[in-house]
Amino acid sequence: MPVTNRLSGVFAGVLLFGCTASASDFDVVPLGVQGGLNEANLSSYLVSVAAKNQFLALDAGTLSSGIDSAFARNAFAEVAWQSGSPYSAKGQLLRDHIKGYAISHAHVDHIAGLAINATDDAKKPLYGFSDTLNKLRDHLFNWQLWPNFADQGAEFALAKYRYQPLSAGTPVNLDELGMRLTAYPLSHSGSSLSAAFLLQHNNAALLYLGDTGPDSIEKGQQLYAVWQQVAPLVKQNQLKALFIESSYPNSRPDDKLYGHLTPRYVLQELTVLASLVNPEHPDIALKGLKVVITHIKPSYLKSENSQTIIQRELTRANNLGVEFVFAQQGELLHF
Ligand SMILES: [Zn+2]
Ligand SMILES: [Zn+2]
Repeated sequence: MPVTNRLSGVFAGVLLFGCTASASDFDVVPLGVQGGLNEANLSSYLVSVAAKNQFLALDAGTLSSGIDSAFARNAFAEVAWQSGSPYSAKGQLLRDHIKGYAISHAHVDHIAGLAINATDDAKKPLYGFSDTLNKLRDHLFNWQLWPNFADQGAEFALAKYRYQPLSAGTPVNLDELGMRLTAYPLSHSGSSLSAAFLLQHNNAALLYLGDTGPDSIEKGQQLYAVWQQVAPLVKQNQLKALFIESSYPNSRPDDKLYGHLTPRYVLQELTVLASLVNPEHPDIALKGLKVVITHIKPSYLKSENSQTIIQRELTRANNLGVEFVFAQQGELLHF
């Protein structure tokens, strides 16, 4: 065989091996990554089994602007559009490729996009704890703040969205999506309930935490209980990514956290997880784990770019060797 052919054979082998080694389990398209102020970029993450292009939206703070950003960044290049559909590609994405919404809690920054796009959305399920779904039923989809686009509550129910309450720790099969969804309660400033969503496909898992305070401030064990659930998955190398909020920089006083985390508390909580994964060597237990930072709250202060500060604080304190990911709106991620 001529040298060039042999070489290209080697390269092909390397490429092939590279592809196999980097095969991902989940595709994630963040439609919104911030935790306030910017109504065009609030918490929402589309998750699909890799290359399936059938998404569950984790929270729905921003939909339309996020889908625009995702198109601009070519995140939906592999989606097969229906030329016979009366809807634009954007319309098809919203209506046909987002198969449902899992809402961590009913705060406006997690549901604004859902409310505004409900008029033109297709029929689909809304997953969440009863507490969250009841808030949507009683305070949003009630013909006072907004028409009743859901299937319960104030007459007349338009029944576009189907409330699907989740019980803590009980998995639900999302057959169409090829994923299993399990919710766990989180404490988001005392009386306010939030949720962690664990998505599983075969032997791969992805954990998304809605807004949450640290256990030490919330005076509870909710995060600890979540860490206990996912520690075995980390141990078996099944947890592909962990989405956790860091709303404020470390300078934020504890009594002004309102149920949120700062870089210091993110590391404190990850250290708890690490010690459950490997009690002897917690320092190496999470090495290489992809930790996606969500819900950074922008600031209008001239002196403060919270994104830069939070990024720096997390990076400097990263004694666990995790891989922090600062996701951009519309950027396709593979895990
Ligand atoms: Zn909140
Ligand atoms: Zn929030």
